[in-house]
Amino acid sequence: MRVWAVANQKGGVGKTTTSVALAGLLADAGKRVVVVDLDPHGSMTSYFGQDPDSLEHSVFELFQHQGSVPEGLPRQLLLPTSHERISLLPSSTVLATLERQSPGQNGLGLVVAKSLTQLWQDYDHAIIDSPPLLGVLMVNALAASQQLVIPVQTEFLAVKGLERMVSTLAMINRSRKQALPYTIVPTLFDRRTQASMNTLKVLRQGYEANLWQAFIPVDTRLRDASRAGLVPSQFDSGSRAVIAYRALLKHLLAYQATPQVA
Ligand code: ADP
Ligand code: MG
Repeated sequence: MRVWAVANQKGGVGKTTTSVALAGLLADAGKRVVVVDLDPHGSMTSYFGQDPDSLEHSVFELFQHQGSVPEGLPRQLLLPTSHERISLLPSSTVLATLERQSPGQNGLGLVVAKSLTQLWQDYDHAIIDSPPLLGVLMVNALAASQQLVIPVQTEFLAVKGLERMVSTLAMINRSRKQALPYTIVPTLFDRRTQASMNTLKVLRQGYEANLWQAFIPVDTRLRDASRAGLVPSQFDSGSRAVIAYRALLKHLLAYQATPQVA
């Protein structure tokens, strides 16, 4: 199983959209995908038609066992989605009680990694949508992953959030065997705006080595897909954003071709 996290310590940059779009394209290609919603806001859970305010069972339960994960529990929590090959490990609002806790104190840092190990046989790929705060949930997302995708909105001040994310990553890497590879993905790009052009320039100057060379354009079809509860590629496989996400997926898969240790 390949495990990717999508994270940025800033909201509204396209994390959930990127998670769903990549999961959809992988599933379209025949992969069995599990998407994990670690954001207490539950946007990805809502995307797939579930209500994070009223869900009785969620990823929260995985954290209720002193850091060990009972055999079979992750599988019991899975929900079907609008895509036949995508299963959802849903978030719920109670996750917020965990969000700000430090993982060091309670031994909860590897709960998601252990949970995914139990799903190894059933899925080819896992995609983790992460919360914008640095706490036990973010640490779990990064600890469980073999690759990190950092969406960055091409907007003023976006680079601040990226700097914070990269320093968080440096901290996490100290407790990993191998540094977590990451790819910066410029999102919500609008070539008519000065802010988008400037941000792209700043990213190219400061983050060349980890920057995906293209970008995800602003595309209202993504919002329409989200309203319909369908992954973008099933909603409109020829939209500009889907074409861009397809290129991104290809880039990420090629990158991952070098063996990585989980
Ligand atoms: P995050 O998960 O980082 O908070 P989202 O993926 O929820 O961000 O995106 C924030 C909002 O922007 C959502 O309403 C989403 O539909 C919209 N959005 C994301 N990417 C695009 C895009 N490329 N074009 C147009 N709208 C987008
Ligand atoms: Mg989100």
